[in-house]
Amino acid sequence: MTKIEKEIRELEDKIRYHQNLYYVKNETEISDLEFDLLFKKLQKLEEENPELVSENSPTKVIGSDLDNSFEKVTHKIPVMSLANTYNTTELQDWIIKTSEEELYSIEWKVDGASIVLYYENGKLDKAVSRGQKGIGDDITENIRTVKNIPLVLKEKISIYVRGEAYMGFKDFEKFNALNDGKYANPRNSTSGSIKHKNSKEVAKRPIKIFTYDGYFLDGYGKIKTHTEMLAYMKKLGLPISEDNVLSKAKDVLKNIEKFKNKKDSLDFPTDGLVIKLNDFALRDNLGFTSHSPRWARAFKFDALMKESKIIKIDFAIGRTGKITPRAEIEPVQLGGTTVRFATLHNQDYINELGVGIGAKVLVAKRGEIIPAVEEVVEAGENGVFQLPNNCPTCKTKLDHIDDSVDKFCPNLDCPDREVNNLIFYCARNQMDIEGLGEKQIQNFYDLKYIKKIPDLYNLHKKESEIMELDGFGKKSVSIILEGIEISKKKDLKLLLPSLGFSEIGHKVTELLIDSGYDDIDKIIAIAKSKNAEEELLSIHGFGEKIVQALISTFQDKKVLSMIESLKKYGLNFHAKKKELSSNQIFLNQSWCVTGSFEKFQPRDKAMDLILFHGGKKVTSVSSKTTHLLAGENAGSKLEKATELGVKIISEKEFLKILSENQISL
Ligand code: AMP
Ligand code: ZN
Repeated sequence: MTKIEKEIRELEDKIRYHQNLYYVKNETEISDLEFDLLFKKLQKLEEENPELVSENSPTKVIGSDLDNSFEKVTHKIPVMSLANTYNTTELQDWIIKTSEEELYSIEWKVDGASIVLYYENGKLDKAVSRGQKGIGDDITENIRTVKNIPLVLKEKISIYVRGEAYMGFKDFEKFNALNDGKYANPRNSTSGSIKHKNSKEVAKRPIKIFTYDGYFLDGYGKIKTHTEMLAYMKKLGLPISEDNVLSKAKDVLKNIEKFKNKKDSLDFPTDGLVIKLNDFALRDNLGFTSHSPRWARAFKFDALMKESKIIKIDFAIGRTGKITPRAEIEPVQLGGTTVRFATLHNQDYINELGVGIGAKVLVAKRGEIIPAVEEVVEAGENGVFQLPNNCPTCKTKLDHIDDSVDKFCPNLDCPDREVNNLIFYCARNQMDIEGLGEKQIQNFYDLKYIKKIPDLYNLHKKESEIMELDGFGKKSVSIILEGIEISKKKDLKLLLPSLGFSEIGHKVTELLIDSGYDDIDKIIAIAKSKNAEEELLSIHGFGEKIVQALISTFQDKKVLSMIESLKKYGLNFHAKKKELSSNQIFLNQSWCVTGSFEKFQPRDKAMDLILFHGGKKVTSVSSKTTHLLAGENAGSKLEKATELGVKIISEKEFLKILSENQISL
């Protein structure tokens, strides 16, 4: 291996290591800047030595900043649904009808978003969503960022594979925690992610793909069975499930039991199994119905599924303005409750199902999630439902923002948004105001007693009017008014996330406070300052999106005037101080750390000491950084610090400072 080649491979490994830390473990050891430098170095070497570029170089899997607008692509292979079976009798009937002699493949039905990968001459040419009626969205840029699929196959072959994009439960939880729990479940967050407009953002999300069917342009080519096809796909480097079982017809039910036993220990979401005839010649004989192959069946574990009919479709507009279509259905009993409504999620979901008013549908309830329309049994006469162009409540034109699958009402004064903002503010996880639930808030809103959050603090003026209302007495009114009074004592840590600004949830608030922005005036000042972007980006855990949200929120005049009125009512926009040492030797200093240390492992231990003794922590070196704690193998931060004249402290010097100030490790 030449020296250059060695350098390239080492850079690749290093970048992959840091990507893995960042994307999989949510940790960082180097700043974005350092990472960019590594990346650029690799790009440069690759440009100069094209023959040394490896097929899966990390330079090929980083998203672009371009706004993806999705082109429509006509599929080259059949992308049909699967007919469902809900119990073993149904499945057994199908096997008898199909063939009792043949072998069947049993596979997990992973619950994510369906996609097709088109490889031409061994290279990933296009990735396309399932879409509808054989036409999907070109989501290639987004799918390129998925790290477990090859961009280049081991052979120069043209092959088209169907796959499912999904998020594992653990990955999803971590990802969702970083986003203040705004995603309902892995499936929704996956389908939102693959249609995101910015593939750089998609690259940060823990999406995986598993592939389960392969086709050539002329069908199955020389390959005779499904198992052989999967083995070939595996050889090409495609991700195949390890759990697939090839079963005799008579053993299918027994094997299904084995899958069932394993189901709860899986780290990815499934909604059942897929049973497929193994032999391709037989498949061709059987062919397709208008919407699914005759040679395969889905087997759903979840029996909590009932047939009903869609009477009406209405909408909920949430606090953020997001519109969610909801079907009113003929009431059915499901898992002990009467279900009258089922969610339809968004227009994409409606399109994929092909659902409309009057359709006969299957409705399912899974865990605690709201029941959803899962499948159309018989389309109604009204065709596929279309979401309105305007907000049904305030008539403002709806907008697409961010995740393109959802539509939003952009009007901040939209009555639905206002009510839901108030509900959010008073909710248990937020300001937790007793006695003010959804019903009471809606009631007061309709009576125009409250409109925006500050109005809550004037509600006491309506005490006698409220007392007259049905369902309120002296006691309940005093509980509410007391609850409102108590809320004034809660501090910034709860107050800020309760205001419901986009991106500014509990986690972001905590990070702000931990970085020394423990008062709303400090936050406003930084957001308005000239180097707002640089300063905020240096906070560990903050990305571009959060920083832009902070800047635009705290520059917004309406927001600022709301904060002013809340202050007048006596709300506490200051965070309680964390326990700090009385020995504040690092006060007014802003420290960054780089390299590795002998006495501090992990190196955050050094940072904890700095914070405890009054210092501030930053994760990249800027003109405002006062000290750089530099250990072994310090990288570009050291260069930058030298350039900017930041004081550089070695481990030895740091230990000396500590001991001189009687601080023990
Ligand atoms: P349905 O959407 O209910 O019609 O079911 C068909 C979908 O199941 C396909 O579009 C795939 O996205 C998904 N699926 C998940 N796992 C598999 C699998 N092992 N084989 C076939 N389809 C699968
Ligand atoms: Zn509206």
